[in-house]
Amino acid sequence: MFENIIGHKSLVEQLEKEIKSDSFPSSVLISGPLYSGKQTIALEIARALTCEQDASWNCKCQSCRQHRVLANPQVVLLGWDLFMPEIFAVKNVLEKKKDNISCYLFIRGVRKLLRRFDSVLLEENDSKFKKIALGAGNVEELLENFDPESKIEPKNIDIKAAQTIVEQCKTIVNEYNFTSIPVDQIRKVSYWIRFSGHGSKKIIIIENAENMNDSSRNALLKILEEPPDNTFFILLTSRPGEIIPTIKSRLRKYEIAERSIQENKTVIERIFKEESGIFTGIKEYLDSAIPEIAVVKKAAKQFMVDLYDNSKEHRGLSHEIKNILKPQFSEYYLSFLAEILNLSRELLQNSEFINNNPGNVIFIKKINKLINESYKGFEKLNINQELLTESMFLELKRDYEKFYKKSC
Ligand SMILES: [Zn+2]
Repeated sequence: MFENIIGHKSLVEQLEKEIKSDSFPSSVLISGPLYSGKQTIALEIARALTCEQDASWNCKCQSCRQHRVLANPQVVLLGWDLFMPEIFAVKNVLEKKKDNISCYLFIRGVRKLLRRFDSVLLEENDSKFKKIALGAGNVEELLENFDPESKIEPKNIDIKAAQTIVEQCKTIVNEYNFTSIPVDQIRKVSYWIRFSGHGSKKIIIIENAENMNDSSRNALLKILEEPPDNTFFILLTSRPGEIIPTIKSRLRKYEIAERSIQENKTVIERIFKEESGIFTGIKEYLDSAIPEIAVVKKAAKQFMVDLYDNSKEHRGLSHEIKNILKPQFSEYYLSFLAEILNLSRELLQNSEFINNNPGNVIFIKKINKLINESYKGFEKLNINQELLTESMFLELKRDYEKFYKKSC
């Protein structure tokens, strides 16, 4: 049980004890920083809860075999996540290694996206969701080419098909373009746990659980007040402060800490089978797999340059940046914001810059504040990324003039 979890030793021991003694609570909240392994832990809990044997990593039971390719029908995945960086990364690994393990990795990475469109979650009247579910079904068919249980010869691993899968995943992500959980999905889950597969355990994993509107929250709260037997809710968040108290009070809380640099390197080497090299974090590693990452980073740099440039032509957001913020890049928007944060952090470490003008530090703080607001606007309110960036830019420009006018 939990042999493949890197780090988080005491939490894993506690979970193992609870699951073995049948005392694992029916509703839990796992909180911890981004990329600290919350999702992996949740998936392992789900596997351990439904295993027909001892849940060792190589367990041959039917349930574990389905879990390993993320196809266990007793688990439902809800909530949004950044899918593409991992999908690009696992495709790269598949291309490089062409072996059985990389097939597992690839299938799991892709299904983390596809499972959001399970038939269990399908609302008949939602034509947009239905259309995307159809697309997900097509990808699912292509995935059969990579079934690790069929032990494909390396030379027969079809990289072209993998590329097609990646392209179609990109389309799905752009079409769905949803960051918070629609109330219909909570209702469908409620129906599923009450009326299907009597007696079998059901696990509902909700990622970024803080991103719900009022009606979704209320619908979830209703289920959590009286969860049916054999049902387990695992909520994940990197912002526990944003989960409302009425929901929080129904959940047992587990906190996980940031992994050390060495542990992150172990994840890259052991899970992704890559040289960790210069990478100290998982996000850095996954971002490096995004083909467009260089363009995204360049746009972030341009944003900073334009911000500090007081000549007339940079009063508004440049076309170059606007082009990057088009819908096809929506998944990378958070990487764009993260890069701006990185650049402002670098400026703060430059003592000459800091000492030059007391306004500099205040201005950088303002940048950080607005970046956080943009994160929220994008994730919670589903505001278009171009609009968010433009209003952030204009507000900063106004402030810039306020801070620096006297010294200019
Ligand atoms: Zn098993």
